[in-house]
Amino acid sequence: MSNECPITIFWFRRDLRLHDNAALFHALKENKKVQCIFIFDKNILDDLKDSKDVRVAFIHDTLSEIKQTLNSYGADLWVFHDTALDAWQKILSQNNVDKIYFNRDYEPYALNRDQELNILAESMNIDVCTYKDHVVFESHEVLKDDGNPYVVFTPYKRKWMSLLESGRLENNYDVLKAFKCEDYLSNLNPVDEPMAFISLGAMGFEKTNIAIPSKEVSQSLIKEYGDKRNFPAIHGTSRLGVHYRFGTVSIREKAAKAIVLSETYLNELIWRDFYSQILHHFPHIVKESFRKKYDNIDWRNNKEEFEAWCQGKTGYPIVDAGMRELNTTGYMHNRVRMIAASFLTKHLLIDWRWGEAYFAQKLLDYDLASNNGGWQWASGSGTDAAPYFRIFNPWTQQDKFDKHKAYIKKWIPEYGTPQYPQPIVDHKEARERCLKTYKEALDNN
Ligand code: FAD
Repeated sequence: MSNECPITIFWFRRDLRLHDNAALFHALKENKKVQCIFIFDKNILDDLKDSKDVRVAFIHDTLSEIKQTLNSYGADLWVFHDTALDAWQKILSQNNVDKIYFNRDYEPYALNRDQELNILAESMNIDVCTYKDHVVFESHEVLKDDGNPYVVFTPYKRKWMSLLESGRLENNYDVLKAFKCEDYLSNLNPVDEPMAFISLGAMGFEKTNIAIPSKEVSQSLIKEYGDKRNFPAIHGTSRLGVHYRFGTVSIREKAAKAIVLSETYLNELIWRDFYSQILHHFPHIVKESFRKKYDNIDWRNNKEEFEAWCQGKTGYPIVDAGMRELNTTGYMHNRVRMIAASFLTKHLLIDWRWGEAYFAQKLLDYDLASNNGGWQWASGSGTDAAPYFRIFNPWTQQDKFDKHKAYIKKWIPEYGTPQYPQPIVDHKEARERCLKTYKEALDNN
């Protein structure tokens, strides 16, 4: 791997694509020999509990495709399995590197990791160039007039839209313009021999049968999204979450389509930016409630009830169907995520952090900012949360959004037989218990 003229490194992270990739575009446009790398970060992989974690297999498959494409241009993708800092120490000591490019990541772990690289690079006089790619607007771009962050969605959205409009020329929006990496692929670093590609098995993982939802979404689905998105029995949402998470699709491209096809879909993409900036401005939410007094709630945290919830055996069909969908596919419909999360925190009075951790383990589209946002919303402790006394009734939710029980029957084959459990709690009693517990916690502070 030693090189005489300097190479420039582009580091793939949450942006696993060769098209419309901001940092890759700038690296290729501004440099002559761009070498792409990826690091399977041991700090992250070692924390995963399941050797069949489908997200790792998905990343591996995606990298394999990228590597093949790069090989077809006479270039390569170097893949490492190490802690990020150790990998960088090796890369920088074994190669003559002049610059490093990557797209910004706003999670606390990533910010620390990138800061360590900055320090290392600075000590070696290597420039680090970073770009926005994962979101449409970053946390410092959408602020109130007084410079403070928004904590309520509607005014945030208004400002977000006005920023979008301010960079508009007819149907083109500055901020959504594609970065045409394909124009500069001749600036990739040519290699004689591609580097061997580490196998999943060598990292302690294996493939599963869980399928990744397709990247291709029809225009009609997005057009009808507003009418259909709340009904879990139909395929009415895009299922692109996993692709947004790992950057296998471009947020700019999808937002530009949404502007034309569906305001409701665009709204959901704005929620994604919203939660990303909340995490960036208020990193305490990773461990604590956004509204601190909610940390005084006297959770029951009953382990058997938690287990029943995880397995989809609470006797509340809409909750159970959702949990079984999650356990089987790594996906759960948004409406059902809200119902299942509300049930865990309010009906069972189990700490939202338990549910959040379970979703983090299982969801293909797991994203710290959106998952935390969703859980804190459901438990009432988050930004823009519904008042705690508004408690979802799982029975009416079920009647409204799965009227013909198609979703329930799909996921609970024993539904309607004696094998299906009786409700773990009575709705009315659980509701009253929740109101009392929340009131005590919040009134005392
Ligand atoms: P679509 O309905 O097709 O929406 C398109 C995209 O918009 C999504 O892929 C997602 O990127 C974004 N989006 C939609 N709704 C939201 C939202 N409420 N907040 C933020 N972004 C949104 N979303 C995640 O991406 N990762 C998570 O870990 C996650 N955990 C959640 C946990 C709970 C308790 C709740 C209530 C919601 C959670 N969400 C999470 C938000 C939402 O449920 C998912 O984004 C959505 O269900 C993914 O399916 P889809 O791709 O078909 O979404």
